[in-house]
Amino acid sequence: GFKCGIVGLPNVGKSTLFNALTQTAAAQAANYPFCTIEPNVGEVAVPEPRLAELAKIAGSKEIIPARMNFVDIAGLVEGASKGEGLGNQFLANIRETDAIIYVLRCFEDDDITHVAGRVDPIADLDIVETELMIADMESLEKRRAGVEKKAKSGEKEAKETLALLDLALAELNEGRPARMADVPKEDRKAWRMLQLLTAKPVLLVANVDEESAATGNRYSEAVMERAAKEGAEAVVISAQIEAEMAILDPAERAEFLEMQGLEEPGLNRLIHAGYKLLGLQTYFTVGPKEARAWTIRKGWTAPQAAGVIHGDFEKGFIRAETIAYDDFIACGGETAAKEAGKMRAEGKEYVVQEGDVMHFRFNV
Ligand code: GDP
Repeated sequence: GFKCGIVGLPNVGKSTLFNALTQTAAAQAANYPFCTIEPNVGEVAVPEPRLAELAKIAGSKEIIPARMNFVDIAGLVEGASKGEGLGNQFLANIRETDAIIYVLRCFEDDDITHVAGRVDPIADLDIVETELMIADMESLEKRRAGVEKKAKSGEKEAKETLALLDLALAELNEGRPARMADVPKEDRKAWRMLQLLTAKPVLLVANVDEESAATGNRYSEAVMERAAKEGAEAVVISAQIEAEMAILDPAERAEFLEMQGLEEPGLNRLIHAGYKLLGLQTYFTVGPKEARAWTIRKGWTAPQAAGVIHGDFEKGFIRAETIAYDDFIACGGETAAKEAGKMRAEGKEYVVQEGDVMHFRFNV
């Protein structure tokens, strides 16, 4: 599954947020067994109101949401790139993720030590990101000499790799993360293969005090400003409130939200922001047994989407019978949609659209 790493300095609220995420997931998905893969890896259900609508129409017995993984990556301190703290392990954990969530402390509390002795989310972000940039520069420098030698001896692929290494180094030398580099479209795949930490998409989480959950505060405003400048995603959340809410049942939760002046749990916003960050989208399979959401990347074709369910579906793909979500709802179900001519037979080249309801036909 797709994986977001939760990263930040100590005492900013990472574990509080992670625990709230996983507890809420456990509480919300009553018929979906929540699992902790490892102590610091949690699988959460992606909140998806359309599933209930589909299930109602189709009389599905079970609702199965899409899932996303979150990893609580502790151990970042200044000097991590030099092996301080949990240094290398920490970097290895980040390398395995698809995106990074930076949790930034935007709450004051004299009882909770701040490692740098002050609340300053922007300075914190710079500390954290600098460590990742240093790690990237070192790994690039290490690789460069070998690649340069091969490029000089005329290897075409090495020449292309060298150009990308230098593109990344140029960006980092200017003090900017690799994700800011302007990578030509045809090089995107090779770029991803470089596995740079600072090339991963990022989401900034401004963790505010309980009083500021609905309004934000001056710290979170600075975070939003920074995100806007960089074209990054950002979410204001109070990890403390989310943790309190995580243990409530749905009715109590609704009441609590209203009391706090919030429209929905911050965790829903966080999960959706993570989904967007990863360039993900959803398609559905619907039947009397279950209504289920599946996660794919934007731009995937029907066989690739089928492969998420089972590898054999992709290999033996014949065609997909597809109804757009809105048509399914408007017509009142599959049979009526088919009669209205809203069910399409799509072939191998079809690019799956957000919310498609699909059946796959395949050879076994
Ligand atoms: P981590 O080291 O980043 O994982 O931080 P923790 O999640 O362990 O949080 C450190 C301390 O800050 C704990 O005592 C939390 O209860 C507290 N904390 C986390 N979020 C908030 C918040 O929004 N407001 C306040 N006042 N305390 C918080």
